[in-house]
Amino acid sequence: WRRLSSGLKRTSSSLGTAVADLVTKRKLDRAMLEDIEDVLLRADLGTEVAARISEAVGHGRYDKSISADEVKAVVASEVEKVLAPVAKPLIIDATQRPFVILVVGVNGSGKTTTIGKLAAIFSAEGRKVMLAAGDTFRAAAIEQLKVWGERTTSPVIAGAQGSDSASLAFNALSSAREEKRDVLLIDTAGRLQNKAELMNELEKVVRVIRKVDDTAPHAVLLVLDATVGQNALSQVDAFHRTAGVTGLVMTKLDGTARGGILVALAEKYKLPVHFIGVGEGIDDLAPFTASDFAKAIAG
Ligand code: GDP
Repeated sequence: WRRLSSGLKRTSSSLGTAVADLVTKRKLDRAMLEDIEDVLLRADLGTEVAARISEAVGHGRYDKSISADEVKAVVASEVEKVLAPVAKPLIIDATQRPFVILVVGVNGSGKTTTIGKLAAIFSAEGRKVMLAAGDTFRAAAIEQLKVWGERTTSPVIAGAQGSDSASLAFNALSSAREEKRDVLLIDTAGRLQNKAELMNELEKVVRVIRKVDDTAPHAVLLVLDATVGQNALSQVDAFHRTAGVTGLVMTKLDGTARGGILVALAEKYKLPVHFIGVGEGIDDLAPFTASDFAKAIAG
């Protein structure tokens, strides 16, 4: 909780300051509610949620003075209502061996780092993890994954830069089966020549994985960088259509004032949110909980 609230400090303090500025020495009226709605929109909460919150703030309070804390309490409660249905842990089905997790997202969103953090969590739970360096497009991604493999003592299946990522995924899944690994985490490319090529490549990876195990991938995690704000919405659109995303991880919630985008995503797509990234370190991945996040956002 401490890490989450400090991570979200920039989101909550910009929202909190704006709300505090608005409510001083004024009675609540239509204009103030509109101003509150603007603040919520600027916090990336999305139009529907912003309108709903401002309506809830107004309920029964017209022509009375209102405190910033009252507004924040309404924000927290309304945000929690949106987030509660999507806050779901990532459940590893132990009957699937390996449980195959495909990790997708645009370059720089934090895929490789998230895979490293997940490997640490799963290893600490006593699971045998294997990593596949499926972002064969970038040499740095392969090297970075190998470093995470060493840090978490997880074997890494990697090919040369430019090698075919679908056949790498195929090989990785075959080895993970042979070695009876519990979890296989597969990294993927986040940028190729163009978007169509990237999506074709992802489709191919999924198709090839299914040849080895027709129930796989068992989870497709889309990693989203919170700092991109509204752009996250189009990323969900594109990846969901191609790879059948089963859950989200939102990274870089530390040091951004745009944490509210998670609420807009939850409202629009209703996809499960499993984890949030609040730093670059191995321990900086937290399970996502609605009440904590809602409280942290409202400040
Ligand atoms: P990829 O291209 O999607 O694999 O992204 P990377 O895992 O290489 O991450 C890109 C950059 O974001 C790296 O410098 C990471 O250390 C950083 N990063 C990843 N997750 C977080 C996070 O939750 N918080 C912060 N502050 N940085 C992160």
